[in-house]
Amino acid sequence: MGYFKEIWNTASSVFEGMVVTFSYLFKDPITVQYPDRMERPLEETLPEGYRGTLSVDIETCTSCGNCMRACPIDCIDLKGAKTERKKGLTLIYFNINIAKCMYCNLCVEACPTKPSSIFFNKSFEGSTSSVMDLVLKFVPDAEVRIRQQEADELELKKQREAAVAAEAQG
Ligand code: SF4
Ligand code: SF4
Repeated sequence: MGYFKEIWNTASSVFEGMVVTFSYLFKDPITVQYPDRMERPLEETLPEGYRGTLSVDIETCTSCGNCMRACPIDCIDLKGAKTERKKGLTLIYFNINIAKCMYCNLCVEACPTKPSSIFFNKSFEGSTSSVMDLVLKFVPDAEVRIRQQEADELELKKQREAAVAAEAQG
């Protein structure tokens, strides 16, 4: 009896599968002629929450480092330091090695700003001939040098002031 039941189960599951397959014979084909014959840019058709490439809004980022600490595989490298540019920390550099990223979203969830300063955009055309191009630098190199210099100058100024205060005391 079990033998015939197995034959029946096999035949019915094959039939169910083929019903789905054959149903496509009667539907119009859907062909997406990417990238040059799209009615609208493909990015606009992607669903909410789609994880393309990580991006950072360096204007709203507070340099808190939560995202860097949350990343389980150390994709994120950033530095914040005091400068006279603004209250709080100034972002000196913010790099993400997108070649290592596994798109887990943990960094985005850890960001305290609303909306999150680190987020996934919808871009997906990231192919390159050099893996070094996959280290995304959100503060340009020239700007990194300027910001670092400002941080060093402020540090020196504080040290000089502390030395003067110490001398005055004794
Ligand atoms: S998505 Fe995940 S792996 Fe990628 S940078 Fe964020 S925490 Fe790291
Ligand atoms: S968690 Fe958000 S605010 Fe903090 S360093 Fe990362 S991106 Fe900037």
